[in-house]
Amino acid sequence: MKSEGNGMRCEIISVGTELLMGQTINTNAADLARELFSLGIGVYYQTVVGDNEERLAEVFRQALSRAGLIILTGGLGPTEDDLTRETVARVLGLPLFRDRGWEGRLEDFFNRIKRPMASLNLRQALVPEGGKILPNDRGTAPGIYLDLQEGEGPLIILLPGPPPEMLPIFRKQVIPLLRAKLQEKGALAVLQSRVLRVIGLGESELVEMIAPLLKNQSNPTLAPLAKRGEVHLRMTGRGRSEEEVQTLLEGTAQKLREVLGDYIYGEDAEELEAVVADLLRAGNKTLALAESCSGGLLSHRLTNIAGSSAYLLAGLVTYSNEAKMHILGVSPATLQEDGAVSAKVAEEMAAGACRFCRADIGVGITGIAGPGGATPQKPVGLTYLALAAQDFKFSRRYEFWGSRQDVKERVTNTALHLLRLYLLGKLKSN
Ligand code: AMP
Ligand code: MG
Repeated sequence: MKSEGNGMRCEIISVGTELLMGQTINTNAADLARELFSLGIGVYYQTVVGDNEERLAEVFRQALSRAGLIILTGGLGPTEDDLTRETVARVLGLPLFRDRGWEGRLEDFFNRIKRPMASLNLRQALVPEGGKILPNDRGTAPGIYLDLQEGEGPLIILLPGPPPEMLPIFRKQVIPLLRAKLQEKGALAVLQSRVLRVIGLGESELVEMIAPLLKNQSNPTLAPLAKRGEVHLRMTGRGRSEEEVQTLLEGTAQKLREVLGDYIYGEDAEELEAVVADLLRAGNKTLALAESCSGGLLSHRLTNIAGSSAYLLAGLVTYSNEAKMHILGVSPATLQEDGAVSAKVAEEMAAGACRFCRADIGVGITGIAGPGGATPQKPVGLTYLALAAQDFKFSRRYEFWGSRQDVKERVTNTALHLLRLYLLGKLKSN
């Protein structure tokens, strides 16, 4: 039961058959993990087990072998299937004592609601020897804090299952205890994350480029997360002070920037549309959009940014051939010969939007969002994107995949990516 090697490695055990069956979503584990992260405590395992004594004992024994801090939620209710308190005591070989203070609180509570207290409720005043009650203001099941072998053994915390009871106990009572514990061990750490957002590279391409950095990482750790049409690189650093962690994170960010350059478009919560908006404003450029398969999503994303009227002149959703001809001046011959989903139509849409709105930059988007409308030559997801400006013309063919929504999202991400490159002077006319 020695926790030495395990330090403050944490395991969260969520108890409840309803969780295993998917009837209740395990929000407790996620909420606890986030709170622990900000304390600098790493959660190494999360386990879920039903209301079954044998299996709970097994999971708890396993946790004792690999964690120094074990937090259990659920199974502290008054009914037969609530077994956490008894099982933890049994596995640890500790007798249960009745806590007079909490017994009094229970009696008061049942007097107040004018109901007799069932003998089953008295179980909720039982505490394994050496345990400390963590009072619950919103329910009859208190939490329990067990610091075994005078701090040399593992730290075990039992919390009630209902989130409105669990979280306040954790925040108000457990966090201060954990902080004190970390201080005592000289392990009070700062843990911080930073995200670099990458566009224009697939996940595997990106991973190949940063392979040496991914290989020997420990502090900060580095993890790629693929999003629709982009990849986020999450760095997590640990240190004794915020400055120390920031320096570590900046060191890794610097190395990533050297390798990835312009593929990194932003950081943390910075959205691609906001980056493009800043560039448009800085360059004093105006924009007109001609969208077909993206159905106005690009206009929507750009108008989500406050102050977008400074650069966005119009977002035209030209869905039909007629709209493309009459509003944008796309030539009937092009539509006839190349079809609506073609490079030439995208180019004429971009040029038409530009001309019609007297904008500096025009964007044309035409494609097949699916699931219907495909032909062998023109599969679902086939999209042409075009940019037009004075003495500048660009178009490219893409094949996106996924659901209709995925395709729309990826199309607009790519359009924003192209706009960004153009505004940075990094897109060549073709
Ligand atoms: P218990 O303490 O086991 O009696 O749990 C009581 C109620 O709390 C359950 O019926 C669930 O609705 C809720 N609950 C228990 N565990 C969790 C959890 N891990 N995440 C979210 N809700 C939970
Ligand atoms: Mg339960």
